[in-house]
Amino acid sequence: MTTFNELQHQNDEAARKWFEELRWPGGVVCPHCGTVGTAYARSKLGLYRCAEKECRKDFTVTTKSVMESSHIPLRLWAQAFTLLCSSKKGMSAHQLHRTLKITYKSAWFLCHRIREAMRTGGLEPLGGEGKIVEADETYYGPTEKPYASPQRKGRPFTGGGRGPANKRPIVALVERGGSVRTFHVPVADKDTVTKIVRGNIARESRLHTDDSRLYIGSDVHFAAHETVTHSHGEYVRGDVHTNTAEGYFSIFKRGMRGVYQHCKEKHLHRYLAEFDFRYNHRIKLGYNDGDRAALAVKHAAGKRLTYRQPH
Ligand SMILES: [Zn+2]
Repeated sequence: MTTFNELQHQNDEAARKWFEELRWPGGVVCPHCGTVGTAYARSKLGLYRCAEKECRKDFTVTTKSVMESSHIPLRLWAQAFTLLCSSKKGMSAHQLHRTLKITYKSAWFLCHRIREAMRTGGLEPLGGEGKIVEADETYYGPTEKPYASPQRKGRPFTGGGRGPANKRPIVALVERGGSVRTFHVPVADKDTVTKIVRGNIARESRLHTDDSRLYIGSDVHFAAHETVTHSHGEYVRGDVHTNTAEGYFSIFKRGMRGVYQHCKEKHLHRYLAEFDFRYNHRIKLGYNDGDRAALAVKHAAGKRLTYRQPH
């Protein structure tokens, strides 16, 4: 049996049930008021009404989720979630358009919505006692608007067009053997990088970086700050290196070049979220393709919802 023989990929009724079970494992929750378990079905097609006196609103499993007000059949949504979550380097809207036989516009919409669902955001700090977190930065693609420092005071940009100054900086923090968290920043300067590093890594961690001046001073904040001197050709010293972060960047760049040739800068953070999501739920950490799709579906629901019990 292939993945696409599973019922949620075959018919819309089964797909709806699949989405409902993932979104509401503990009973139907009204997405308008957050009440659990009082809604009743108004039709066989998945329309519910909240029974709370002050609410009484109608909703479906797609209400207040990335799937809201989409006309794409639910079985195709299920297929798209599965496809985007199972290919290591992602899938382009063009490919999805051909595979699912939907318009390119619909495919593009699906891709961006699913990417949004994958944006799980980092809350817990990475690392911890005895753990290593690598920090590194890279540059990807040309910026659409060069970064203007306050000192520039509106003076025009001349020539150039090469080098990191006109590329999109990305900072990655990777816990060795664990999760990655990436940031597309307007400029990779010391202030920006310091804020990211301190705001996202547990103080008890060992921080590994190269000898870039961006990380100077980090030693006072962490259990240790160990560096490899890339400028002198040193890449590994004992267990000190930034190879995990560099490995992540190389998956990202190969995927972006091969699959997503044209990525507008304003969408870059979503592509990063997509690559982060797959990396953080990779096979090595115990996730299979199905788990990954199910998790993305769970994150598709409005994340700001607060659940409460009926009174
Ligand atoms: Zn309600």
